[in-house]
Amino acid sequence: MQTIPMIELKAEIDGLWQELMTSIQGVLRSGHFIMGPNVNAFEEEVANYLGVKHAIAVNSGTDALVIGLRALGIEAGDEVITTPFTFFATAEAIEQVGAVPVFVDIDRHSLNLDPHLIESVMTERTKAILPVHLYGQAVEMDPIRALARRYGLKVVEDVAQAFGGEYKGIKLGTIGDVGCYSFFPSKNLGAYGDGGLLVTNDDDVALCASMLRVHGARKKYHNEQVGYNSRLDELQAAILRVKLPYIEEWNEGRRRVASRYNTLLQEISDVVVPVELSDTKHVYHQYTVRIRNGKRSLVQQLLAREGIDSMVYYPLPVHKLPVYRELGYSFPQAEMAACEVLSLPIWPQMTHAVQDRVIHSLRQCLS
Ligand SMILES: *Cc1c(COP(=O)(O)O)cnc(C)c1O
Repeated sequence: MQTIPMIELKAEIDGLWQELMTSIQGVLRSGHFIMGPNVNAFEEEVANYLGVKHAIAVNSGTDALVIGLRALGIEAGDEVITTPFTFFATAEAIEQVGAVPVFVDIDRHSLNLDPHLIESVMTERTKAILPVHLYGQAVEMDPIRALARRYGLKVVEDVAQAFGGEYKGIKLGTIGDVGCYSFFPSKNLGAYGDGGLLVTNDDDVALCASMLRVHGARKKYHNEQVGYNSRLDELQAAILRVKLPYIEEWNEGRRRVASRYNTLLQEISDVVVPVELSDTKHVYHQYTVRIRNGKRSLVQQLLAREGIDSMVYYPLPVHKLPVYRELGYSFPQAEMAACEVLSLPIWPQMTHAVQDRVIHSLRQCLS
């Protein structure tokens, strides 16, 4: 029996093999490995695709968040409002610039930060809001933008899981002041190593971010501030350039798989399928259901016995991680989600036959 992984990258790599090889060989022959023509071209192509003025490629999604926050002037003592139901890197980036993450609970349907709770935790130290488009689902951005405008706050979007996703026809990551993407290999647009990207429409923020990624220097060996070594390399940029033209097709593939899951899983008791907010385009980085009535670990075990992978993103909300748990925060919706969510295998080229095995096994364990 063949096992079913969470994501199968082989289908994609096989399909692009010749293109990838040509492109990789081109980089090797050029002898140019850091900050060369492929990075420049990729930045232009990705800015074009997203509909944004500036794209600055960096070393990882985490670095994009750190550099984005710093480029917006977020510093020690500032407070940044974010979600407790995310990957730790979101809060970690806030800490890295010396600021304090302030959490608000999530909406139980979208599993994203509930914008209606933001005002209640604001203080005069609040400088920014950092929504995370979890699993590829857009955060409701209008109320966040309205608050930002009213109180003069910056908005940084964590788009690590939602490359190509949309809110009201606009690409996620281009709505706030800065958008931060990750090209970790399993993300919707993945490199074959680490990589990240920061986008903005603001010329000053773009200039500052592009300096920060190369040790705070505008001109080589004339460092103006303490920055980072956070460059995307030419090989990863060349690979991303091969893949970018396929991202719409791949996201549509994920949406087709998700829609079929929705239809076939919603009948099963104790399974709650994900919602897609109206006016958004969910790109299903993860296809995540909720398993009710304490049956999740049983379901996971039974799926594993059938050779089917499943994952819990995330078993602990950020405020319950060892680094924060002594602070004693409580966010009931995030805690409940952490007990119930289960992400199932999904990738753009997933066949009906493979998906049917997942659905069949889920149905069997819950009937
Ligand atoms: C993957 C991810 C990151 C970090 O990206 P890296 O490229 O691994 O540094 C940040 N936030 C979220 C929500 C992520 O899923």
